[in-house]
Amino acid sequence: FERECAMEIERWLGERGADGYVKFEKLGGQAIWIGKSPVWPKTRDLIFSRQVVKLIDKKPLYFEAKNRISPILTALEGQSYSAIYLDNTDTNDGNSMVDLFSQLQRPLLSAAGKANILNREAKQRAHLVFVDGTEAWLGISEPEDTLKWPMGIPRLKMPQDAPSRSTLKLAEAFAYFMDKEEQAEWLREGLTAVDLGACPGGWTYQLVKHGLQVIAVDNGAMNEKIMESGLVEHIKADGFVYRPQRPVHWLVCDMVEQPSRVAKLMADWLADGDAGRAMFNLKLPMKTRLDEVELCREIIEQRLKKAGKKITRLEFRQLYHDREEVTAYLVVQ
Ligand code: SAM
Repeated sequence: FERECAMEIERWLGERGADGYVKFEKLGGQAIWIGKSPVWPKTRDLIFSRQVVKLIDKKPLYFEAKNRISPILTALEGQSYSAIYLDNTDTNDGNSMVDLFSQLQRPLLSAAGKANILNREAKQRAHLVFVDGTEAWLGISEPEDTLKWPMGIPRLKMPQDAPSRSTLKLAEAFAYFMDKEEQAEWLREGLTAVDLGACPGGWTYQLVKHGLQVIAVDNGAMNEKIMESGLVEHIKADGFVYRPQRPVHWLVCDMVEQPSRVAKLMADWLADGDAGRAMFNLKLPMKTRLDEVELCREIIEQRLKKAGKKITRLEFRQLYHDREEVTAYLVVQ
């Protein structure tokens, strides 16, 4: 997804009067924007970027395996940083850095402390993104502009009794889109949800786990164990036709369908007051992924505007557990 990532950065910055271009390599796990800009995106402003880091230098830092600390300190000299954060590109080489990070972290921080580079009061932290053991980009970031998880990936364990791996998509969506308070308010007993395209029940599992009552709509077969929870009603119907008798708090949808069709369906439900919030997946076409997401955004905005509903949240994110797809969160007042 480097291409989408690059296009999105160029578009975001271009719309804000920036002058520059993006460099990327397919499967390189990074997109580097080179240029001047009055503003800078936060990670959450972008759909396809795992983490946004402002580089200090146009070139990466190279070092020998024997000595990584001195070149890093030399590059950081003259400024103070609140911390030194180690990250990696999401490639095989990048992901093999875990052991190196655990060896490097302490001696690096200790040497940085002695060199007067660390200052708790400093606004920015140094943010190193390792490509492999001999090359790293050196940048700065602020904790509130980046995601709290390394490489923006929340570590989630696959629940043993979940009906499908898709369960992790909704678990990650809850973790990404909702802070702890929002989760406590909106994921609890007493609330209701409809899950369109629910089978075998991975998304329903996440809702049931939080005590919600779920109507699972799908012509397929639901996992038997989840039906034993007593919180799920399985309705065999077409998700594009079904509507609940009473409004529900949540609409979730993981049907494999044209993104614009799903976007319209979600907007219709919320426009008609059948649900107050929706979390859904858009399966993207190969070539025009970014344009497709923007088209879906427009469909939703226009439909809800026509209905006189105010959108309080409309966000898209390609989550770690998403593949050729993005997840969206939509809330109306
Ligand atoms: N979220 C599910 C989970 O976590 O286990 C997986 C959903 S799977 C990707 C897509 C499901 O959508 C399939 O079970 C399929 O039967 C269902 N589906 C596709 N089109 C549908 C429609 N028009 N109405 C209802 N269900 C539909």
